[in-house]
Amino acid sequence: MSAKITIPFFNYPRVYTDDRDAFLEIFDEVGKRGAFILQKDLSQFESTLAQYTGARYAMGVGNATDGLEFGWMSIGMRPGDEVIFSSHTMLATAAAIMTAGGVPIPVELGADNLIDPDAVEDAITPRTVGIMPTQLNGRTCDMDRIMAIAARRGLFVVEDAAQALGSKFKSKHAGTFGDASAISFFPAKVLGCLGDGGGFLTNDYAIADKAWQLHDHGRDMDGEVRSWGRNSRLDNLQAAFLLHRLKTYDQVVARRRAIASIYQVRLGDMPELQLPPAPDSDPDHFDVYQNYELQADRRDELKEHLRINGIGTLIQWGGKAVHQWERLGFQVRLPKTERFFARCIMLPMNVFLSDDEVHYVCDQVYSFYRG
Ligand SMILES: *Cc1c(COP(=O)(O)O)cnc(C)c1O
Repeated sequence: MSAKITIPFFNYPRVYTDDRDAFLEIFDEVGKRGAFILQKDLSQFESTLAQYTGARYAMGVGNATDGLEFGWMSIGMRPGDEVIFSSHTMLATAAAIMTAGGVPIPVELGADNLIDPDAVEDAITPRTVGIMPTQLNGRTCDMDRIMAIAARRGLFVVEDAAQALGSKFKSKHAGTFGDASAISFFPAKVLGCLGDGGGFLTNDYAIADKAWQLHDHGRDMDGEVRSWGRNSRLDNLQAAFLLHRLKTYDQVVARRRAIASIYQVRLGDMPELQLPPAPDSDPDHFDVYQNYELQADRRDELKEHLRINGIGTLIQWGGKAVHQWERLGFQVRLPKTERFFARCIMLPMNVFLSDDEVHYVCDQVYSFYRG
């Protein structure tokens, strides 16, 4: 290969440019109808999302962070209530607990890099009210274990499924196991819109009813004011874009899984790397590969080598687990998580990549370790 390829970690313009004609048509059609807030495109998207995930209720929200907060508010969180979460997650997970009035309690990740159920058990106190598993990188936790702990200890479960639309554990969709969940439609997410957006899922009518009020000024679905609320509605225009994109979402998932398979075949034998599980390597899991996050020896040097060769990589969450942001006041040490953060890196993983580009990334990883 002669010319130097430049492979950005994520190509934001292409979210728009790859499907520009369709987006322009939707914009024009929705705009001419003046259908900006709480219109039929949104309700259609909500029912399609419910159908797709198998959740009884789906509601568009301004972003996933708000949706997660509504989850905890809807179960009646009180000040001092503790919620256990994995520190390998976005700050938003912990922030949603905090802004709902609770206390976020970070715990370790397990062998699968998702929340460790044993660490959850150990962290339960008389003040614990809930568990907040993050369905990270497009993989769903072992929800049998999480739900068993929750049932035994009488805890609520709100899933952070921001990265996991379409991901399944034992054929059940991420976001449909617990009391509520939220999915993100941030542009770089598996299903992205052209701005901020989120989805709230629940199987419980009382929670759906409460969350609806929270996201629309305290009004219920009939417009009657029942409580204090705020405004965190998903824009109707974004919902129309998402409805369009959801139609071909299965192809997106298939492509991401195909890229993961290439990485597995090309890099799976390298002792310097610990790759995420390959597609179909475990019949209980169906992963959608929001990210391709691995652990690597000499991680920082690898990152620099890839950069010099035109490949963008990312270390998740700005390189720190939640509890490592000192100004937030966490007092814990989580050695496994901290070790992970000294080694983790994400390779490009998105539908804009060609096979040649994925192979080029593999070539460069290989040449870094083997010269
Ligand atoms: C993106 C993300 C969020 C936040 O989603 P927004 O829609 O941007 O609010 C929360 N948790 C995780 C794990 C995420 O990846």
